[in-house]
Amino acid sequence: MRRFFSLVSLSLLALSCGKEPAGDPMIAAAVADVSIDSVRTYIDELVAFSTRHTLSTQTDPEKGLGAAVEYLAGRCGRWGREAGSVRPQLLVERVFYTVGENGGRYDRIVDVPELMVTLPGTRAEREILLVAHIDTRVLDVMDSTSFAPGADDDGSGVACLLETVRILSKVPLEQTVKCLFVSGEEQGLDGSRHFAVRAREEGWPVLAVLSNDMIGNVRASGTGLREDHKVRVFSESRSGEDSDSRQLARYIKEMASVYVPEQEIVLNYRTDRYLRGGDHSSFLREGFTAVRICEYCEDYERTHQDVRTEDGVDYGDLASYVDFPYLVRNIRVNLAAVMNLAMAPARPDNVRIANAMELDNNTRLTWDPVPGASYQVLCRETDKSEWLPALPMDLPDKVDETGFYCPLSKDNYYFAVRAVSPDGHPGLPAVAR
Ligand SMILES: [Zn+2]
Repeated sequence: MRRFFSLVSLSLLALSCGKEPAGDPMIAAAVADVSIDSVRTYIDELVAFSTRHTLSTQTDPEKGLGAAVEYLAGRCGRWGREAGSVRPQLLVERVFYTVGENGGRYDRIVDVPELMVTLPGTRAEREILLVAHIDTRVLDVMDSTSFAPGADDDGSGVACLLETVRILSKVPLEQTVKCLFVSGEEQGLDGSRHFAVRAREEGWPVLAVLSNDMIGNVRASGTGLREDHKVRVFSESRSGEDSDSRQLARYIKEMASVYVPEQEIVLNYRTDRYLRGGDHSSFLREGFTAVRICEYCEDYERTHQDVRTEDGVDYGDLASYVDFPYLVRNIRVNLAAVMNLAMAPARPDNVRIANAMELDNNTRLTWDPVPGASYQVLCRETDKSEWLPALPMDLPDKVDETGFYCPLSKDNYYFAVRAVSPDGHPGLPAVAR
C-alpha cells in the first residue's frame, strides 16, 4: 500500500521549514576538540622537512617527501595505538606509484610515496574521503631541493587531515573515513589520480570526497582584502545545478551553520579557480562526488614562491603567514560535515515526482525506502541556489513504499529527499526527477 503524508496548509509547511537540525553533542564535542596548538605544531613540523617536493629525497631521515610521509604515518599510527579498542583499529598504509613514464613535470622515472589512513566505520557501508597534498613547490616546479615550506599550500590541508585523524581515532563512527595524504599534486595531480583510479577499479563505496587545499590564509595579495570568516567550497557546474557535488557543497554549508556558525561557507559554483586545479578534479574525473575547500582570499606572494625578500616584499609560504584561528575553524567545518555524513543513512534511490504527468497543483514524491530511516523533503524555488531549511516528515519505521504529498506546485519548486538517522543525522539529498 502506498502511504502519503499530507501537509494541508502552507503555513504548517513554512513552520516546518524553519526548524534547524539539532546539533549532536558528540559531534559538537569533536568539533570543539580541534586544537590550535596541535595544528600549529603539525605545520611547524611539516615546514621543517625543508621541501616536500614530489621528486625530493626519500632517503634523508629529516628532509624531503620520504621523511614527511614517515612523519605522517608515525603520528597517525601512534594515535591509533593510543585509541586502543575505542573503535575499529585505524589502518595506516604507505602507497607507492610510478611517475615520469610519460614525461610531463618529471625529469626521471621514480616510485613516489603517499599515505592512506583508514578510520573504519562500525557499519562501513560507505566511505568519506578527505584529501590534502603533502607535496610543495617553489617558482620552478622542477626544483626539488630548494626550501619549499608549503605551510598553507598545502600544510594547512595536511594539518586538517592530521587533526581529523587525531580526533576521530577516539570516536567510533558508523561509516568509514579515509584520509588520503597525496603527493604529485603540483606536478599534475598524479597522486590523487592514482587513488581515484584505484577507488574506481576496486569499487570503493565512496559517498563524498572533500579536498582541502589552502585553507589557512586570509589575505589577498594585490588588493589587501582580508577575509578570516569566509571559506569557499567549489563544486563543479558541468553536470548541472543539482549535481551530486553541489549537493555535497550545500550539505557542508548547512552542517557548518549548525556546528561552526562563526564561519561563513561561500558556495562557489565552479570546479576551481582560474588557472589553478586541485585533487578533487581527479575524483570528479573518475565519477565521484567531490568538492574543494579553499580559503576565500589567496596570496600569490606566498604560494609557489621562492622564499626571499625582493623590493621590500617578503615572499614564501611560511608558517608565520598562516592564520591559525581561521584554519582551526575550517578544520571544524570539515569535521562537522564528515561526522554527520558518517552517521547518516544512505541517499534514497528513485526519488520521483509521481504526478509529473498530471495537471495537478500538488506535488507527490515517491522513493525507495532506506532501512531504519525517516525522511526530510527539501525544496527551493527554481531561481534559488540553496535548499530551504529541512521539512521534517515523521514516517513509521516500517513502510514498504514511501512518499510525500504537498500543496506546492511542482512547477514552482525543485524538490529533494534525504534520509535521516534515528538520532537525527541527515544524509545527502537526492533530487526528485
Ligand atoms: Zn595546493
